[in-house]
Amino acid sequence: MPRALVTEPGTAHSTRVEEIPATDGEVLLRPVEVGICGTDREIAHGLFGAPPAAGSPLVLGHEMLAVVARDGGGFSAGDLVTATVRRSCGHCPACDEGAPDSCLTGDYSERGITRLDGFACELLGEDADQLIPVPRSLDRLGVLAEPTSICERALRHARTIGGRQPWQLRRALVLGAGAVGTITTLLLRLRGIETWVASLEPNAPVAEAAGARYANVADVGELGTFDLVVECAGNAQLMADALGLLRRSGIACLIGIDGRRQRVTLDGPVLGLDTVVEGRVLFGSVNAHRQDWLAAVDDLARVDPELLRSLVGLRVPLEDFEQAFAYRGGKATLVIDA
Ligand code: BGC
Repeated sequence: MPRALVTEPGTAHSTRVEEIPATDGEVLLRPVEVGICGTDREIAHGLFGAPPAAGSPLVLGHEMLAVVARDGGGFSAGDLVTATVRRSCGHCPACDEGAPDSCLTGDYSERGITRLDGFACELLGEDADQLIPVPRSLDRLGVLAEPTSICERALRHARTIGGRQPWQLRRALVLGAGAVGTITTLLLRLRGIETWVASLEPNAPVAEAAGARYANVADVGELGTFDLVVECAGNAQLMADALGLLRRSGIACLIGIDGRRQRVTLDGPVLGLDTVVEGRVLFGSVNAHRQDWLAAVDDLARVDPELLRSLVGLRVPLEDFEQAFAYRGGKATLVIDA
């Protein structure tokens, strides 16, 4: 029986490795590496997530790189793939047209998060139409496809919102230098955009190596204004502050999550005057459309692999998952098949 990383959603400290019944599907996959993010940590802390059925554990893991185990569904044994996370609610126009990332009901399920087992498992089945081919050249770095798809969607939506009127994306600020902040910075730098990255840490080495300029988050008010601010730090006050860092027609995009019960402050004239008179926008983005997954693997293959390698700070075997959950120095991954 395959080993998997399972947890009881709603129950802290219930995460463990155990054997689970083998599952099959149109395409049989052997996950090789699975990334860990804040959502996995929240689920493991009992604060988020839902089991596939009442009383059964949830297999964790939604950031997967896998190898196809046998020919099927148009894939060949040995192909590298990743898989989408969110699945249709089955009864809304967005899901009907293949855009569960924009689901209108909230009744969607997500692999490794809500009501569907995830990918931190030695063997599993998946529908061919949920798979995204990963170029061989990316190799293990294909594990970054999921967080990259999140950043791609956010930037695609920002460009769409910006493009509703004449707008130029020349100067961007990324708040937060964790994995998502750094990947967002890499994507902006790939397009030659002047990018600043601000964080609490003393520097942001990967972002700086990609040509971004670093500032301490306390000093963002001194950097001038931006066409785009992307909040990846998961801090609601910073999210509110982002509106005040925009120039005319500027866009603030929120990707981080901060569910703490608190009140944040917003400067009156920034909201009541500048946002109106200068046509500024603040919006949120989560999950990714298939087109964002395709863009993600394409763009990852164009980034200097050395930069991507230094983004993955810790790789541990499945049974050492606690180390990965405790790690704070970049992306941590679970190596399922070395
Ligand atoms: C995942 C998204 C998911 C979101 C909310 C994130 O960590 O990357 O795919 O939609 O959590 O569950």
